[in-house]
Amino acid sequence: MKQKIIELEGKALAEIESLVDEASLEQLRVSYLGKKGSLTSLLRSIAEVPAEQRPELGQLVNKAKENITRSFSDKKNLLSALKSRQGVSLDITLPGREQVLGTLHPITRITGEICGIFSRMGFKVVTGPEVELDYYNFEALNIPKDHPARDMQDTFYVSEGIVLRTHTSPMQVRVMESQPPPVSVIAPGKVYRRDSDVTHTPMFNQVEGLLVDRDVSLGDLKGTLTSFVHQMFGPDIELRFRPSFFPFTEPSAEVDIRCVMCKGRGCRTCSHTGWLEILGSGMVDPAVYGFVGYDPEVYSGFAFGMGVERIAMLLYGIEDIQMFYRNDIRFLGQF
Ligand SMILES: [Zn+2]
Repeated sequence: MKQKIIELEGKALAEIESLVDEASLEQLRVSYLGKKGSLTSLLRSIAEVPAEQRPELGQLVNKAKENITRSFSDKKNLLSALKSRQGVSLDITLPGREQVLGTLHPITRITGEICGIFSRMGFKVVTGPEVELDYYNFEALNIPKDHPARDMQDTFYVSEGIVLRTHTSPMQVRVMESQPPPVSVIAPGKVYRRDSDVTHTPMFNQVEGLLVDRDVSLGDLKGTLTSFVHQMFGPDIELRFRPSFFPFTEPSAEVDIRCVMCKGRGCRTCSHTGWLEILGSGMVDPAVYGFVGYDPEVYSGFAFGMGVERIAMLLYGIEDIQMFYRNDIRFLGQF
C-alpha cells in the first residue's frame, strides 16, 4: 500500500511535468483527483486496511494529494502565462539573446574627433548645403570661369550654375557673408567629385576651417595646425609646411606628416617620399574678402581643408577607400 502511494505520486508528478497544453492537463487532473480518479480511490481503500496502519497511510496519501494538487496548479499557471504570449513559442531553457551594440562608422568617428579638437580651440561647427551655387563653389572663391578646377571631368553639374559642391570651401564665403568678423568656424560635410579608385570615391567627406580677425598671421595658421596634427596623430609626429597653390589663399601651404606606415623610410603609401600630405591651408586671399565685404586692410585670416577618409585611412592603416562604403559589418565592427 505504502509503495503504491509513492509510485502513484511519482507517476503523477512526471506526467504533469511532461504536459504542454491546458486541456490535457485538466484531463490528467480528473484522472487522478476526480471522483473516480486513481488517487481518490486509493484514499478510499484506506478504509479497508487494518486500523493501526490507517493513520500513517492516511498521512502519506494526504501528503501525496497535496503535492499533486500544487503541481497541477503551478503547471496551469505556467501554461496560461505562455498562452498569453500568443504566437510566440518559447523555450525557457534556451540562453538569452545577447544585445549587440552598434559602433560609430569610422568616418563619423574621425569627423567627430577633428571637430572636437578645433571646438576646444574655440572654433564653432557650422554646416551648409551640398547642392551649391556655382557662385559659392567657385566664383566667390576666386576660381574664375576658365579655371581647371571647373573641368566637367571633376564637377557634377546639377544644372547651369548649380553643382554638387566639390569642396567644403563654399562655407567660408557663406559664413563671412552672414556675419562681421571675427570669424572662427569649422565646417564638416560631404563633397562630390567625378573620381573613383582605391584612394578616391565620388562622394567623400571634408572638414573646412576658417579664422578671420585683426592681426592674424601665418604664425597663427602654423600654430593652430601644428597643435591639431599633434592632437590627431600624437605629440611625436613630425610635420612640415610645404608651399602650394590654391586660388582662394595666398600664400598657400600643404601640411605633410612623416609617413605613419614606414616612419619616413619610404613605402608605397608615401610614394617613397617618407611624407604624407594631410591638409591644404593658406592665408585667405584678399580677393575673397572683396566678395563678402570685409576690409582686407583691417582683417586677415587663414583657411584650411582636409579629407576625412584620408585621415581615417592613415590612422587605421586602411589601403582601399572603398571599404568605408561597402557596408561590410565585419569591417565596420572593428572600429
Ligand atoms: Zn611611407
